[in-house]
Amino acid sequence: MSDTILETNGLTKEFMGFVAVGDVSLKVRRGSIHGLIGPNGAGKTTCFNLLTKFLQPTRGSITYDGRDITKLKPAQVARLGLVRSFQISAVFPHLTVLENVRVALQRQRGGSFDFWRSDSLLRQFDDRARALLADVGLTGYETLTAGELPYGRKRALEIATTLAMEPQMMLLDEPTAGMTHEDVDRIVALVKRVAVGRTVLLVEHNLKVVSGLCDTITVLTRGRVLAEGDYQSVARNPEVIAAYLGS
Ligand code: ADP
Repeated sequence: MSDTILETNGLTKEFMGFVAVGDVSLKVRRGSIHGLIGPNGAGKTTCFNLLTKFLQPTRGSITYDGRDITKLKPAQVARLGLVRSFQISAVFPHLTVLENVRVALQRQRGGSFDFWRSDSLLRQFDDRARALLADVGLTGYETLTAGELPYGRKRALEIATTLAMEPQMMLLDEPTAGMTHEDVDRIVALVKRVAVGRTVLLVEHNLKVVSGLCDTITVLTRGRVLAEGDYQSVARNPEVIAAYLGS
């Protein structure tokens, strides 16, 4: 098994000639927490969309777990275990917390929603959903609708629905954005926990969070890789400092 789980070569996305992601060659080590940082407009979201195949690259290739996934569809990539955390907007606000995870579990099985009609299947899904909710600290919230959850807890639900997809590698898009200090600490602890035995690629603005979590950090600016290394080395890099001050 290769030490590298995800690799891009010359990954490029142009929008009407504008280079949003240009020639990005990235290597993510299996089992690591890898941070993708950079000022607004650096190309982080576009990169995530390329990796999960929500966007087709203009050029370049993506290899995941030894397989060329450049031409696959999002659902195929997710089934291989490369899963992006769903945005809160993808959490169903009128379903309960438990139902949201149940639906995610069903989606993972790629089947129909027959489980609503089978008591024993429903129980199996419920048991698994409750276990996932316990993993993310949402025990006791099962019967609330997702829409009623406080913001920080919604992000935890989003992670639970991602875990339901049984990811081998998770892409987390700003899991602490807009959170209070207390919620940030909780999510950091949660990411550490879910990263055990998995690989995590994380887009995050909060550099304290990045420094506490990430083994390796790639800094993007204007679609290009500006620097890569551990937090200490990238934080000391004058070009990185200039890019952030200039943003
Ligand atoms: P980040 O996530 O780092 O803030 P994005 O990946 O969202 O950056 O955007 C990178 C650049 O690509 C930005 O200049 C943005 O305006 C541009 N961009 C992103 N998506 C599109 C699109 N669909 N059409 C045109 N330009 C886009």
